[in-house]
Amino acid sequence: MAKRDYYEVLGLSKSASSSEIKKAYRKMAVKYHPDKNPDDKAAEEKFKEAAEAYEVLSDTDKKSKYDQFGHSAFEGGAGGGFGGFGGGMDMDDIFSQFGDIFGGGFGGSRRSRGSVRAKGSNLRIRVKLTLEEIANGVDKKVKVRRKIQAKGVRYTTCSTCNGQGQVMRVQNTMLGRMQTAVTCPSCNGVGQSISSKPNGADAQGLVVSEETVTINIPEGVTEGIQLKVAGKGNDAAGNNSIPGDLLVVIEEIPHEKLKREGTNLHYDLYVSFSEAALGASKEIDTVTGKVKIKIETGTQSGKILRLKGKGLPSIERYGTGDLMVHVNVWTPQVLDKNQRKFFEDMLEDENFVPNPSKTDKSFFEKVKDMFS
Ligand SMILES: [Zn+2]
Repeated sequence: MAKRDYYEVLGLSKSASSSEIKKAYRKMAVKYHPDKNPDDKAAEEKFKEAAEAYEVLSDTDKKSKYDQFGHSAFEGGAGGGFGGFGGGMDMDDIFSQFGDIFGGGFGGSRRSRGSVRAKGSNLRIRVKLTLEEIANGVDKKVKVRRKIQAKGVRYTTCSTCNGQGQVMRVQNTMLGRMQTAVTCPSCNGVGQSISSKPNGADAQGLVVSEETVTINIPEGVTEGIQLKVAGKGNDAAGNNSIPGDLLVVIEEIPHEKLKREGTNLHYDLYVSFSEAALGASKEIDTVTGKVKIKIETGTQSGKILRLKGKGLPSIERYGTGDLMVHVNVWTPQVLDKNQRKFFEDMLEDENFVPNPSKTDKSFFEKVKDMFS
């Protein structure tokens, strides 16, 4: 039998948006869901067909391959194949991959197949980092209060649902009597109940534990980025459960002197009138310590000195940014009598008359340099 076009399977046109694709798939999945069509092979095939179409069309990369080459994009040997559909999709794969799309009432019911283990909830913490820590990467120790299974807690098969995690409920609807699976009210879908637990444990057999977790923060992280420490979230009840994850949200502490722009850093350097005229050596802060830079004789205000590689590393590891030192010449605001006389004498002096075409690049040329 020839494979049907994925858009046709979901009843969509080729120009369907990602939300239309999701909506269409959800409609099909609900319609042909095995809970609603017990022992109906045709419905199961439709259900699988829709899941396969959705897997491709919901993935930007796969979708563009499919749009270009059709089914041949995924056939072995052609170079573009990604496998996975050799013998069609397995039902459990569908539920573990797309379970969340079914929404309440369906997704969780698959626990009965034993393929989805109860997972504890995630914890989220914020970690503040200095630019220096971001530049070099850092191991941060944090105290985390997480729920873990109490010592000595015993779980046994739930007698209400026989370990299935769900019970069948008959409902009268406009279409007649329908049997639907609902989460077991005794064990909340875990399939196990507590046979004994120590004092202090909650209804799920969990206690709060304070633990120190070391987070390896790679260099180059950015504000708002979220790192995951697998398995350091809350435990769930039950013998086969797996703990949730610890999600770490990065916050950047503003630096006193350095401003970040992606991987580049900017530093505002103030030099005196005399230093700009005579030349000088200045010390500036970088994320790897202080460095000395040379201010050339006759440096103009607005000059940008670019220190290659003194910026921040990129988290995608495509190199390190630069540090731009912006030179600002400090014009004296208070002058005594002699100083005033000095500047008055220099008013007409040709060395004091601006002549930018001769001495320095224009602002626009400097900007052009920065991006070259
Ligand atoms: Zn139960």
